[in-house]
Amino acid sequence: MLGRVSSPLPPNLAHWLSLLGPETLVPRAEVRTYPAGGETPPSPEPAREASLARLEALREEASRCTACPLHEGRKNSVFADGDPKASLMFIGEGPGRDEDLQGLPFVGRAGRLLTDIIEKGMGLRRAEVYIANVVKCRPPQNRTPTPEEREACGPFLIEQIRCVHPRALVALGATAARYLLATEAPMRRLRGRIHMLEGIPLVVTWHPAYLLRRPEAKRETWEDIQRVMRILGLSAPRRPGGHGSS
Ligand code: SF4
Repeated sequence: MLGRVSSPLPPNLAHWLSLLGPETLVPRAEVRTYPAGGETPPSPEPAREASLARLEALREEASRCTACPLHEGRKNSVFADGDPKASLMFIGEGPGRDEDLQGLPFVGRAGRLLTDIIEKGMGLRRAEVYIANVVKCRPPQNRTPTPEEREACGPFLIEQIRCVHPRALVALGATAARYLLATEAPMRRLRGRIHMLEGIPLVVTWHPAYLLRRPEAKRETWEDIQRVMRILGLSAPRRPGGHGSS
């Protein structure tokens, strides 16, 4: 697991942040509570054991959830993958066919590209990070989840963020970014800066599926990933052929 808050930010971070322009503070419109609700929301620094137990309870609840029509076509709900104590959390849109079959996020072609970004680009192991989606059940024909579906399922994600409490969040694509930031702003306004969500820095980048269609956008993704690495105090792995995803 990556070290948590113990290491200080790199000394050049303040200068680097100043080059990005003003930090964007975009609160979500409201603090959503888990639909099965009634419980007291976890504190910002939850006790680790309680958080792990809470995540397992949420995973179980998502597997039985019928709160939106997406449950009708699912083979598996896709809750998350990775280390629940991770310092870095990636958030995508929703499961596709491969993910629905395996019950794991980002395991198809786009998932392999995300793994490359994590392992070849960042020098981490995929198992060291935590990966989840806005909706836990596969939308038909991989369409974008509707606003109603996002609102129905999103509280699972918010609770996951609170339980994992990473040091940095990465929103993969417009659907995740817009849900988390409660905005309809275009990607060109959401990328290239550091947002804050519940006190956690959040960076927006392209979804790996988009990178498969438009490989030229990988350069921008690498810029975004470098931004995340600076937040975490990570340096790029030394590799003979350069850096980044391929
Ligand atoms: S997508 Fe989310 S809210 Fe909808 S049925 Fe699945 S788990 Fe429940």
